Amino acid sequence: PKYVYDFTEGNKDLKDLLGGKGANLAEMTNLGLPVPPGFTITSEACRYYLDHETMPEGLDDEVGRYLEALEREMGKRLGQSDDPLLVSVRSGAKFSMPGMMETVLNIGLNDESVHGLAERSGNERFAWDSYRRLIQMFGKTVLDIDGDLFETAIDEAKAAKGVESDLDLEVDDFKDLVGTYKEIVRENAGREFPTDPREQMDLAIKAVFGSWNAERAILYRRQERIPADLGTAVNIVAMVFGNLGMDSGTGVAFTRDPASGQQGIYGDYLQNAQGEDVVAGIRSTVPLADLEQIDKKSYDELLQIMETLENHYRDLCDIEFTIESGKLWMLQTRVGKRTAAAAFRIATQLVDQELIDEDEAVRRVTGDQLAQLMFPRFGEIGDDVKKITEGMGASPGAAVGKAVFTSARAVELADDGEDVILLRRETSPDDLNGMIAARGILTSRGGKTSHAAVVARGMGKTCVCGAEELEIDVRARQATAPGVTIEEGDVISIDGTTGAVYLGEVAVVDSPVVQYFEGALSASDGDELVASVDRLMRHADSRRRLAVRANADNGDDAARARRFGAQGIGLCRTEHMFLGERRQYVEDLILAETRDDRNAALHALEPLQKQDFKEIFEAMDGLPVTIRLIDPPLHEFLPDLTDLTVRVATGDASSDDERLLEAVRRLHEQNPMLGLRGVRLGVVIPGLFGMQVRAIAEAAAEQKEAGREPHAEIMIPLVGAVQELEYIREEAEKVLADVGVEALIGTMIELPRAAMTAGQIAEAAEFFSFGTNDLTQTTWGFSRDDVESAFFGRYLELGIFGVSPFETLDVDGVGRLVRIAAEEGRATRPDLKLGICGEHGGDPDSVHFFHDVGLDYVSCSPFRIPVARLEAGRAAI
Ligand code: ADP
Ligand code: MG
Ligand code: MG
Repeated sequence: PKYVYDFTEGNKDLKDLLGGKGANLAEMTNLGLPVPPGFTITSEACRYYLDHETMPEGLDDEVGRYLEALEREMGKRLGQSDDPLLVSVRSGAKFSMPGMMETVLNIGLNDESVHGLAERSGNERFAWDSYRRLIQMFGKTVLDIDGDLFETAIDEAKAAKGVESDLDLEVDDFKDLVGTYKEIVRENAGREFPTDPREQMDLAIKAVFGSWNAERAILYRRQERIPADLGTAVNIVAMVFGNLGMDSGTGVAFTRDPASGQQGIYGDYLQNAQGEDVVAGIRSTVPLADLEQIDKKSYDELLQIMETLENHYRDLCDIEFTIESGKLWMLQTRVGKRTAAAAFRIATQLVDQELIDEDEAVRRVTGDQLAQLMFPRFGEIGDDVKKITEGMGASPGAAVGKAVFTSARAVELADDGEDVILLRRETSPDDLNGMIAARGILTSRGGKTSHAAVVARGMGKTCVCGAEELEIDVRARQATAPGVTIEEGDVISIDGTTGAVYLGEVAVVDSPVVQYFEGALSASDGDELVASVDRLMRHADSRRRLAVRANADNGDDAARARRFGAQGIGLCRTEHMFLGERRQYVEDLILAETRDDRNAALHALEPLQKQDFKEIFEAMDGLPVTIRLIDPPLHEFLPDLTDLTVRVATGDASSDDERLLEAVRRLHEQNPMLGLRGVRLGVVIPGLFGMQVRAIAEAAAEQKEAGREPHAEIMIPLVGAVQELEYIREEAEKVLADVGVEALIGTMIELPRAAMTAGQIAEAAEFFSFGTNDLTQTTWGFSRDDVESAFFGRYLELGIFGVSPFETLDVDGVGRLVRIAAEEGRATRPDLKLGICGEHGGDPDSVHFFHDVGLDYVSCSPFRIPVARLEAGRAAI
């Protein structure tokens, strides 16, 4: 295969092969934008290298040919001693993984070519600064040397000279540093810094390939659900220099504000600097708008290019650029990460600008983003809370938690179930663990393009950055702001929208988007975000084929679900109606020795259940309500075995207790999840299901009398054989006829046997509802309540699955059962209604699958309904 592509050969649609960076560098090159020449080695070569621990055959020659072409174009050879071509070796995978993998700049410098560079540029300081940067990056990235060793050396050089900024170091300081750095390499890598330019380049390429499997990259991929086997491409790019003097510099920019979506000039610029300097927070950047004063020509050109990019990509782009002695160069672009709110705003703005249509707009927002917009905000600030300082709102949300100063501590406390806020001067990729564990992130340095800000936005995590008044002392585990000290463990609250930082706990309130769904705020009330959400939700609703129902067990939840757009109830669990004071009746039922006793207990329960159902029918007037007959094992309603045993043993027990103990022992099961539950209860305990059906029927009859329109659907859980269903059905139909109401009778499909015999079961069922929680549990043989702590962590680590099958439906296994059952059920009964009521009903990826297999509806918790509506719309587009 062809492993190398010149920038003129690629384009933006080749991300699989060239990675995002390479594909977009090629796209910009072909747009005629000023991109330094270069070429890309494909991710296919990387995968080969990672699999075989050696480079594919012929790659070396291919790279050699492309390098020669580059040298010809530039008119100089890599590392040529009197006038060296220098290159960067840059990682770039299909999905952007900011700062996760490695890049080495200034490849081609050595003890000779550094003089050539100095002479050609007429800038000796620049040449030696570039050289020490090369050794530093190469040492850290390729030779695996602790980066702090280099940092400490440069800090010491500055301290010795009594200066604070790198800018105050002079030629001789950099020459000395080069010596020190080489010494560090010798001592820590057991080899000399390689002087052969091609060897430097080849080692760097391998290191970039290898960085795909760096620990933090693995962690990031898992968090972002990026497949583990993609590999990264490598880009070889001719160097351009932002560190040639004050008429040079480097910067990053967005074509619009990634936090709000507003158009304008957003970015940071740093004069006389190279590469990462601008995001590393080493020196203070200036806002991009200031570039107009510094270098008007480059500024105008940059704005022009940003407009070109937005129109070309029809989306927000972020870019990296460098100015070399007044000449602008583009080093990277991509469709930029953005906050959830910005995603909605930008999508509708682009429709208004006629760059995209409404279908495309709906495609560009996700259910996860919508879920984020439904997170609560800070409400009123109480008297006991004090605003102590302010930074930039870098990633919105409201986070409250205990202050911690290291990622390790964040992870520790989070594991203990504590909410924590991670405070750092700035974050680095090494902080990823802590950022994942924290509720929010607060930094004292860096702007909206800093590592903390970019990564937090990607994760949808609240972040305030650049709170410069904060002095963070990691060793003392404390931070100070004017007049206050924050110790580790102190509760602080941070507002990712305004950037405010509070000492103490601020109460949180509903977000405007939730108020909108609740009907308390309308699209015309002037909130731009709400208007965007309203518009895109309407479009998604007009497109979707799946109906969305709610899982709700009481009138209040049902009413709320309806406000959120539920088109009925897909799962009303009746066991919740047996809790509290009603437990007594369940005990009576279990202890009943005669038929009369049992009937009396059932009799007492019936009116209570009826009342519950009436409320739900009222809230869902005119819409279908699926009620599941009791599902869990009855002993869940009885006292705990140990408690009872103790009571009986210590003589504290009543005679009822003794009988209860006996019953508890009798009902005890080794595997209750596979035990006496669901339809089996209905078969074993005469009258139990009949009572529930009667309560449903009478509730429906009474609501009908009151002029309402109840649509009851009676659902039998845990059926494995059509005979079970037939048995219950007969009992239920008698009761329905007796009361004189109609209701659908159907079943859950939550056992593999039910799925495999769905054609038979459909003979006795008017609807199926896939209980994907139990179906996942029984298909995999995983106990849902135990796996998380037992072994899922390890499974996820090893990539045995990328995401828990309880979170996102396992399409290959469980999904196959769903598909078979849907097809065979419908073959028996063409008008069979099909729905799903597991947790997966509100999971975006799973919703797309349920759309594809042709279900009629998904059912999920009330709060997830808007998410399911949106994703059902996206699935249909
Ligand atoms: P990342 O993916 O972490 O952003 P990059 O490959 O983009 O890493 O490179 C890191 C930094 O080096 C960026 O600021 C980039 O603009 C800069 N850089 C990369 N290649 C060159 C080059 N050829 N000339 C000048 N600067 C470069
Ligand atoms: Mg970059
Ligand atoms: Mg179940």
